[in-house]
Amino acid sequence: MDSSRSGGRRLAPQECAAALAPVLGAVRLRCDEPLAPYTTFRIGGPADVMYDATTADELATAIRAARAADLPVFVLGLGANILVGDLGFRGLVIRNIARGVTDLGGGRFRAESGVVVGDLIRETVAAGWSGLEHYIGIPSTVGGAVWQNLHFLSPAPARERTMFIAETVEAVELLGAGDGVQTVSGDAMGFGYDISRLHGGTEIALAVTFGLAPGDPAVMHRVMQENLSWRGSRHPWLEHHPSAGSIFKKIEGVGAGRLIDQCGLKGFRIGGAQISHIHANILVNLGGATAADVRALISHAQRAVAERFDQYLEPEIGFIGEF
Ligand SMILES: Cc1cc2nc3c(=O)[nH]c(=O)nc-3n(C[C@H](O)[C@H](O)[C@H](O)COP(=O)(O)OP(=O)(O)OC[C@H]3O[C@@H](n4cnc5c(N)ncnc54)[C@H](O)[C@@H]3O)c2cc1C
Repeated sequence: MDSSRSGGRRLAPQECAAALAPVLGAVRLRCDEPLAPYTTFRIGGPADVMYDATTADELATAIRAARAADLPVFVLGLGANILVGDLGFRGLVIRNIARGVTDLGGGRFRAESGVVVGDLIRETVAAGWSGLEHYIGIPSTVGGAVWQNLHFLSPAPARERTMFIAETVEAVELLGAGDGVQTVSGDAMGFGYDISRLHGGTEIALAVTFGLAPGDPAVMHRVMQENLSWRGSRHPWLEHHPSAGSIFKKIEGVGAGRLIDQCGLKGFRIGGAQISHIHANILVNLGGATAADVRALISHAQRAVAERFDQYLEPEIGFIGEF
């Protein structure tokens, strides 16, 4: 499931750091870094080694260094679509905080893949360009958004279709398996529902160029307020109830959350993890939840839905590291 993780050598954290230090610098490598604070679920054990990539070039250099040392590597955005195992991650976790944005003119913006989508929305809307504002309130980096093809419903009142970030992606700069960099068009990204070509191999998005349309700021601000209000009333609030958003993939015409709800599972709890009272496809961390609690809750919901409706609930989130 997770193509951002590759490599195979298993070393102790200090050995990992020693193998990477000549390229990445010893002072920038943190050993045994807890991952929970870097995820929206607030769950997960330590990374053997963590490195903050502050530019797209540093991201590419770190990936190449891990590959050269044959170490497993994982690219972390905002950690909004993953569950990290209680035993953490063996190898290098690169926290992508490459946040450079260039206004190329004419509604084209190049954003490094660690740019936070909310920040990019503020910048593009202020400049009068439309296309990204629909995704306001969704925690994501640009890299994570392209990985998953970020999506949300079209504006109120109709909300008649799902809109995808793919609609705004003009080109993506990719670091390939062979360590070369190529720029591909949005059409070549293999975008679908919850998927892109990033799932398929060892490619890493370094930067994305978005193509936006002229927009009326008043309309864009209305859309943003309506979408934030929609989220606020239907989703648990991350600040109080950490989560990874929807846990299971959409089941066309049925709704994974509806099936779980019909099994009477809203509010059902294992350890510190609970099926949200207000959205049955969201599991929340009530405080001190472990990855084991979440996995047990996922299995429980899957069993209940399979027995009652003969439907399989497929997890949408990535399971990272050791459980
Ligand atoms: C409260 C809440 C609401 C949400 N609502 C929505 C919603 O409405 N619509 C929606 O689509 N999603 C939603 N999500 C899910 C989540 O926000 C998205 O999947 C988001 O795109 C994840 O981005 P991230 O930066 O946190 O990625 P992470 O969770 O950090 O990473 C996810 C995957 O992407 C890979 N990845 C990250 N960056 C790169 C890169 N540069 N190159 C290659 N691979 C990379 C990672 O290695 C990992 O495998 C929601 C989540 C939460 C917590």
